[in-house]
Amino acid sequence: MHNLRDKLSKVHDRLQRAAQQANRDLNSVQLLAVSKTQPATSIREIFAFGQRRFGESYVQEALEKQQQLEDLAIEWHFIGPIQSNKTQHIANHFDWVHSIDRSKIAERLNTQRSPTLSPLNICIQLNIDNEETKSGVSIDGLTALVTTLSDLPKLRLRGLMAIPAPRTIYSEQLAAYTKVKRVFEQLQNDFPHLDLDTLSMGMSADLEAAIAAGATIVRVGTDLFGPRQVTTN
Ligand SMILES: *Cc1c(COP(=O)(O)O)cnc(C)c1O
Repeated sequence: MHNLRDKLSKVHDRLQRAAQQANRDLNSVQLLAVSKTQPATSIREIFAFGQRRFGESYVQEALEKQQQLEDLAIEWHFIGPIQSNKTQHIANHFDWVHSIDRSKIAERLNTQRSPTLSPLNICIQLNIDNEETKSGVSIDGLTALVTTLSDLPKLRLRGLMAIPAPRTIYSEQLAAYTKVKRVFEQLQNDFPHLDLDTLSMGMSADLEAAIAAGATIVRVGTDLFGPRQVTTN
């Protein structure tokens, strides 16, 4: 189990090197530990080493682990596809949602978020490669969705999330992430009053390219926890 500490410190080293190469402040990049399929005991262990932000993709699994980890001040991020019958739980058991791509889901989260909680932080998932099989809004649909979201008081739009098609060559990864960054800058320009500040992109295999292109949150699972466990739901 010591190897979770080693893995975390290796990922920290990569973040530091990537930030340095990109001439960026290390504090401008946050690490989201993607703990889907991993046991609560592993989350507890990495928390003890200082990690505070965790990402989950399956609602039922996340709720069970949240119960077991109630004593820890974890910031929970939902990063998976959202079914409308699950929005009640997502609205009230998470601090962030990265995977918004439809106004219907956003409206449900807005209605269901408890009035006692602060607004839910939201990223719109952008389908940057126009992949048919992937969730995410296309560039063409983005402005309409942002406009809808900006009217929902219990949601706070923070920026964009993207999962480009996997690429192994660094320059190609960089080109894909740079494209996301350009869309983000255009959005900041078109909606200056929203103060958009978040670009959630980069995973185990390509976080360096994402940081070079301007990622502010990288979502790392495999390189932190090891291979994913068998899914329970
Ligand atoms: C699983 C997942 C990750 C983590 O991917 P790794 O390659 O294991 O680092 C990141 N983002 C999303 C949306 C995921 O579903």
